[in-house]
Amino acid sequence: MTEQFKPLTDEEKHVILNKGTERPFVGKYDDFTEGGLYLCKQCEAPLYKSQHKFQSTCGWPSFDDEISGAVKKVPDNDGRRVEIVCAHCEGHLGHVFEGERLTENNIRHCVNSISMKFVSTDDLKKQDSKNQASDKKQSEIKTAYFAGGCFWGVEHFLQKQDGVLSVESGYMGGASQNPTYQEVCGKNSGHLEVVEVSYKPKEVSFETLTKLFFEIHDPTQSDGQGPDLGPQYASAVFYQNDEEKQVSKKLISLLEDKGLTVVTELIPAETFWKAEDYHQDYYQKNGQQPYCHSYQKRF
Ligand SMILES: [Zn+2]
Repeated sequence: MTEQFKPLTDEEKHVILNKGTERPFVGKYDDFTEGGLYLCKQCEAPLYKSQHKFQSTCGWPSFDDEISGAVKKVPDNDGRRVEIVCAHCEGHLGHVFEGERLTENNIRHCVNSISMKFVSTDDLKKQDSKNQASDKKQSEIKTAYFAGGCFWGVEHFLQKQDGVLSVESGYMGGASQNPTYQEVCGKNSGHLEVVEVSYKPKEVSFETLTKLFFEIHDPTQSDGQGPDLGPQYASAVFYQNDEEKQVSKKLISLLEDKGLTVVTELIPAETFWKAEDYHQDYYQKNGQQPYCHSYQKRF
């Protein structure tokens, strides 16, 4: 059966076929935070998204969620632990531990780096644009830009949405090129803290994303968001075309019908300046929960 899969090295066979364990702290993806997808080394089935990954300090890549249906749990031969294998090829991945309270999901998939192959969001985009030639609409990727207070929280919630490939924190709307966090926080640069959402319109619409955006921040607060005060925390949709503008307008008037005084601005999108690396996936990297954003159903 393995003939149809990728040929494995002896080291890979030791872990993937014979259920061995690589040494801690030396695996390729242990201390690794790039955005993208983790595939099964043997069959290349997608297993985990980078937003499922968190820093657990256990020495192996740790995930607190998996791509739906990608991972199978089986009792380990040791009679104590729960083994995880690729649901497609049954290659050994590692073990799963519950109840450690390391993240909100309270589960840790402890996976051998050698059992996986990482593909970055950029590579996925490139791959996708190649596929577009043969299958145009299916693989299209779009972006959307939202400002709703501290970008850590907006990123945290939007990247949980199905159909979203990645969310990056950055700045938009000011006059200077390549602004720094210090400049934006100095409140004079004119930039807002903005997230860039890359999504598959086949799987999630701009309208769904925008509704979610309105439900994870307070679109009625005019001086900032929660305890974060300042013009850089203003609420805004940076639209890229008339369709996005009209959808946003429609949602705002639905909220106004419900009695909300919405202050969200609709602004034509400009250059998105990606924020410094330490801002990306902030809550994931730090194992914290957002303090200034929470989900509230509004539609
Ligand atoms: Zn597999």
